[in-house]
Amino acid sequence: MLVKGVVFYLESDLACEAKFLLEDFRMAVNNAIRAGLQARVTSRNALCRLAYKGFRQEHPRMYAKHLVSAFEVAGGVLKNHRRRARKGVAVRVPFVRRLMMKAENQAFKLDRESGVIDLPIRAGCHVELKLIVSQYHRKYLDDMSLSLGSLTILPDRVVVAFRKDAPKPYAPESALSLDTNERSLDGVFVEGDVAKAVKADFPEVAIIQQRHHDRRKRLQKKKTHDRRISRELCRREGTREHHRIDYRLHQVANSVLRFAEERKSAIILEDLKGFKSKRSKELNRRLSMWPRRKLHHIIEYKAQWKGIPVIKVDPRNSSRTCPMCGRIQDSRMGAEFRCECGWHLDRHINASLNLLQTAISKGMAGGLRFNPGAFQHDVMMILYEPAMAARSEPNGTSGIAVVT
Ligand SMILES: [Zn+2]
Repeated sequence: MLVKGVVFYLESDLACEAKFLLEDFRMAVNNAIRAGLQARVTSRNALCRLAYKGFRQEHPRMYAKHLVSAFEVAGGVLKNHRRRARKGVAVRVPFVRRLMMKAENQAFKLDRESGVIDLPIRAGCHVELKLIVSQYHRKYLDDMSLSLGSLTILPDRVVVAFRKDAPKPYAPESALSLDTNERSLDGVFVEGDVAKAVKADFPEVAIIQQRHHDRRKRLQKKKTHDRRISRELCRREGTREHHRIDYRLHQVANSVLRFAEERKSAIILEDLKGFKSKRSKELNRRLSMWPRRKLHHIIEYKAQWKGIPVIKVDPRNSSRTCPMCGRIQDSRMGAEFRCECGWHLDRHINASLNLLQTAISKGMAGGLRFNPGAFQHDVMMILYEPAMAARSEPNGTSGIAVVT
């Protein structure tokens, strides 16, 4: 079962009753977290047994299903807490600060036609939440193959989970093999006997990361006398950085998926799991892996939703192998891969050829064939470039020189 959360803004502020409900919900979650920590339990049912009665006495009229859902949320927080504690990451007692609540799909009604949610608060008291519905939202509301999951309510917006069974991926008729780099996806598109280089450029991601890093450093230095403020400012910086990078990664992923879907391609990516860098701390941050991992994550879940096959390949030696003669070079090279047999190609694109060949040799790409000799060195297809972004950066990142 696949789940996609879609954000809706509300036409008006939440009614008082709903605001009180959010507060009660948060209190129920935090009570259950405390009880769960003491009793060392994390499952929803165990938390229910522990905390239901007590909370019920204090809030006798709260809709029972919301209360159960609060225990579910608390269970999630506790599991997270336990996982991090096991890893040895310093953790404080978890506490939900944000005003929020989650309602299971039996605990609310959404009229998909009008976009009105009917939310029971307690016996005899319901509130209506009127959603702002755009064309984007219509796609989900009108698609009756999607069923409704849970509803998350925040003070200014709600998230509706839409669910569907994962569609069966199509049998690929072509392949799009991509090597993932700090500033671009570089790869090869193979269809029949033709193989062409492809590229999706996102230099801004590294620039934004760099700039936010510098700003964070400055903030830390400036506010050394007040660690609380410094921490808060840094946190805010971090959230903004994530939003701005996320936005770009989604654009890149959409272009790649559109390309693949139109040509019935399988997407081949390197498996970034277990990718550990031994570089220095400074370089490590600059070449930080999270945007790449995030990009893969976005591509994978969107592909799953659309039924586009994605093949993950072990990237070992992919940057050092000659796809023509199979020789493995001792060391990494410059921008171009050169082999004694005469083969030479852009280093990143060469790596993607190797990923493709690994996928084919392991029989992961169906009946696809590929001969590196068919590679057309003089053609480059652009899947994405920053100019294609629908929204440009308000303070114009693109004009700034890249920090190398
Ligand atoms: Zn060679």
